[in-house]
Amino acid sequence: MARAPRTTHQIVVIGAGIAGLAAATEAARCGLKTALFDDGLLGGLITNVGAVHGHPGQEGATGADLVNAMLGEVLEAGVDYQPGAVSELTSLGSHWSLPANGATALRVILATGAELRTLDVPGEEQLTGRGVSQCAFCDGGLYKGRDVAVVGGGDAAFQEALHLAELCANVTMILRGRKSRARPTFVRQAADLGNMHFRWNTDVQEIMGDDGVDAVRLKGQDGGEEEILSISAIFPFIGLAPRTALAPEQAKRDNHGGLVVDLGMQTDQDGLYAIGAARAGHGGQVAHAIADAKSAAQAAWRSI
Ligand SMILES: Cc1cc2nc3c(=O)[nH]c(=O)nc-3n(C[C@H](O)[C@H](O)[C@H](O)COP(=O)(O)OP(=O)(O)OC[C@H]3O[C@@H](n4cnc5c(N)ncnc54)[C@H](O)[C@@H]3O)c2cc1C
Repeated sequence: MARAPRTTHQIVVIGAGIAGLAAATEAARCGLKTALFDDGLLGGLITNVGAVHGHPGQEGATGADLVNAMLGEVLEAGVDYQPGAVSELTSLGSHWSLPANGATALRVILATGAELRTLDVPGEEQLTGRGVSQCAFCDGGLYKGRDVAVVGGGDAAFQEALHLAELCANVTMILRGRKSRARPTFVRQAADLGNMHFRWNTDVQEIMGDDGVDAVRLKGQDGGEEEILSISAIFPFIGLAPRTALAPEQAKRDNHGGLVVDLGMQTDQDGLYAIGAARAGHGGQVAHAIADAKSAAQAAWRSI
C-alpha cells in the first residue's frame, strides 16, 4: 500500500458557516488532524438570523447562539482554526495545497456556502446600505413605523418579512410567481397579519431614491400594469448563488454553480468534498448542512 504523502493536515475545511463548523468538529472527533479556514463573518449566513426555525431541539434560537455553540465544539475537538480567506486550492494528485495559506491536506471539504442573490435592477447598487438591505434583523429597526417591501417567496423572505411586520407600519411582499415556496406556517402567519400585503406575479423594475429609498417601480408579469409603491426600505431574499470558485474549473457543477457530489459528498475531483450551500441540491436548512458535514467528514475519514 502506498504511503500517504506528508501534509500539514489530514483534512482542511474551507468556510466556517454551519456546514464547515460541523464538518471540522466531526473530522477532528474522528481523530483526523483538521484545519478550518474562514474569510470573514464566522458562522456564515445563519449568523444574522434572529430566530432559527426547523432546527430540531433548537427552535427559535438565534443564529448567533447556534454559531457560538458550534464554535465551542470546534475548539473543544482540537480543530486548528485559522481566520483568513483561502484564495487558491490546487490538486497535487495525491493531496491538495492551499499555497497562500501554507497548508496541505489529504482531503479538502469545501464549505464555502453561498451569497444572497441580488435583484440586479437600477438603483439597487447605489442604495445598498441606504434602504436596500439583506438583513432584516440588522437593519429592520431603522425603519420602525415606516413602510417597507420584501422581495422573494421562499422561507427566508417570509421569515424576514414576519420580523419586519413586528416593527414596520406596512410590509409588502413582492413575489414573482402566483404561489409561494415557503412553508405553510409562515404563509398563514403572514396572511393573518393586517399590515402584510402581497403583490403576486410581480417583478421589481427599479428602486427609486437619491439619498435613501423612496419607492419601487413594479410591473405585473404577463404584461401587467406598472405601479410605483412608496417605501423606505427594500429587502431582497431571492435565493442563493453557491460560492464555488475555489474548486477546479473542470469540477462538475449544476446550472446554479453548485458542485455535484456523490452520497459521501465527494465531488468528481478525487479527495475534494463539497457540503452545505456550496453543493448542488443543498436542502436549504441548517439541519441539511449539518447532515452533509457529517457524511463528508466520515467518508473522508474512511478513505484515508
Ligand atoms: C435570511 C435567511 C434565513 C434563514 N433561516 C433559516 C432557518 O430559520 N432555519 C434553517 O434551518 N435555515 C435557515 N437558513 C438557511 C441556512 O442559513 C443555510 O442553509 C446554512 O447557513 C448554510 O450554511 P453553509 O455553511 O453551507 O454556508 P454559509 O452560511 O454561506 O457559510 C459559508 C462560510 O464560508 C466562508 N467562505 C466563503 N468563501 C471562503 C473562502 N474562499 N475562504 C474562507 N472562507 C470562505 C464564508 O465567509 C462563510 O462564513 C436561512 C438562510 C437565510 C439567508
